[in-house]
Amino acid sequence: MTDYRSLSFWHDSVDDDLTPRPSLEGDLETDIAIVGGGLTGLWSAYYLNQRDPSLRIVVLEKDIAGFGASGRNGGWCSALFPASTASLVRRHGVDAAVRMRQAMIDTVDEVGRVTAAEGIDCDFAKGGTIAYARSEVQLQAAIDEAAEAARFGVDRISLLGASSVSGAAGALGGTLDPACARLHPAKLVRGLARVLESRGIRILEQTEVLDYEPHRVVTTRGTVTASSVIVATEGYGATLPKTKRKILPLYSLMIATEPLSDAVWDDIGIAHGQTFSDFRHLLIYGQRTADNRFAFGGRGARYHLGSSIKPEYDSVPRVFDHLQQTLGELFPQAAKATVTHRWGGPLGVPRDWYATVSYNRKNGMAFAGGYVGDGLSTTNLAGRTLADLITGTKTNLTALPWVNHRSPSWEPEPLRFIASNLGLVAMEVADAEERVTGRPSLAARAMGPLTGH
Ligand SMILES: Cc1cc2nc3c(=O)[nH]c(=O)nc-3n(C[C@H](O)[C@H](O)[C@H](O)COP(=O)(O)OP(=O)(O)OC[C@H]3O[C@@H](n4cnc5c(N)ncnc54)[C@H](O)[C@@H]3O)c2cc1C
Repeated sequence: MTDYRSLSFWHDSVDDDLTPRPSLEGDLETDIAIVGGGLTGLWSAYYLNQRDPSLRIVVLEKDIAGFGASGRNGGWCSALFPASTASLVRRHGVDAAVRMRQAMIDTVDEVGRVTAAEGIDCDFAKGGTIAYARSEVQLQAAIDEAAEAARFGVDRISLLGASSVSGAAGALGGTLDPACARLHPAKLVRGLARVLESRGIRILEQTEVLDYEPHRVVTTRGTVTASSVIVATEGYGATLPKTKRKILPLYSLMIATEPLSDAVWDDIGIAHGQTFSDFRHLLIYGQRTADNRFAFGGRGARYHLGSSIKPEYDSVPRVFDHLQQTLGELFPQAAKATVTHRWGGPLGVPRDWYATVSYNRKNGMAFAGGYVGDGLSTTNLAGRTLADLITGTKTNLTALPWVNHRSPSWEPEPLRFIASNLGLVAMEVADAEERVTGRPSLAARAMGPLTGH
């Protein structure tokens, strides 16, 4: 049996024995069937139950609730959306782009509100996110980002001078975006699952879905018929016949250190509730956990041929070593800290790097996902929006521009393999190129359409 506690630092430190709930036993008829027990599935169930408590809702989960990215992530509950403000404006115009940005900002507070109201203690603390600029090129990127935010007047991103970021080695300045909270992902997803159960929503675990169609979900343990089916499998969608080329599983990996003293944290300059990153191309992200550790992650793990997902891909020693080295370079105060946990998991990347929430009223099929690395809060917006769409309630959320967006499919193999790994290498090259030339990377610009930049 899978040792769920070993999945991540978060699973190891959550106050929950992670024993699987009962599975589906034979065929079942219900109002709403949800495929996937991550935050997309659980938030959808939560808000559907809020809108109409009489709805019969069943969540079908292959492992346990919170097994996937929702239990393993960096704990940034941010207002980030995979498409930048500039690209939202290009696609939808200023008004729709501004509404989308505001919805994301409000979502951070909505997660804080619901977790407080429902007694889900998930270490939610909203202290904003710091992005360090550690070269002249990165400093210019910081200035551009703050200027773009000011132009549209929704995001309140401020520039930080060198003296405000002196705890990070070589930082010349940076930005502070107040719309971000840090939280403990496994405490959130497992706590939310408990709330749902207390409301009569059934979460059937160790029940693998093999395929689905309108009004029908086929699992290893029986068939579920339902008025509406919500597909909420994110990166794992690549393992299902109908979504195989709709989503690409990209691995993100993380490490956690031992707890550090308050004196070290004061020196580093990261308060509780704050998360951090920098302006490099090959993404890094981190937070100060409630128990004073670094939880720190980044990209760099390769994409696997055929969108394959295997437990052994969660662990790549080369990437873990690189993360530890990067953390030590960024914060020499923590360079000698013992790394206690190493883990990873697949997130979901659509071909156009643009998330979607959709509902087809005619056949009852719903889908939400494609958040890339920004799903922790976006799943909440998706859940609220799906609840409105499915119950036929027209709201500001159902008029947001990502509703019913359709991403194109990924290329067949081996093109998909070549293109996505080329994109990853390009981001590594881009950082090296900027260090050498002191100018914005040409490699990053050339690969922009593939990497969502
Ligand atoms: C290491 C890492 C760090 C990240 N950091 C951040 C961050 O700091 N901030 C942020 O905003 N986002 C972050 N993300 C992304 C974020 O975690 C995801 O976007 C989000 O959790 C997606 O939620 P989900 O419910 O859609 O998918 P998941 O949480 O992946 O849930 C999908 C569920 O479906 C189940 N499933 C799969 N196949 C089947 C099947 N056939 N039958 C039944 N069930 C099935 C899986 O077991 C899983 O539980 C990170 C992701 C990773 C991997």
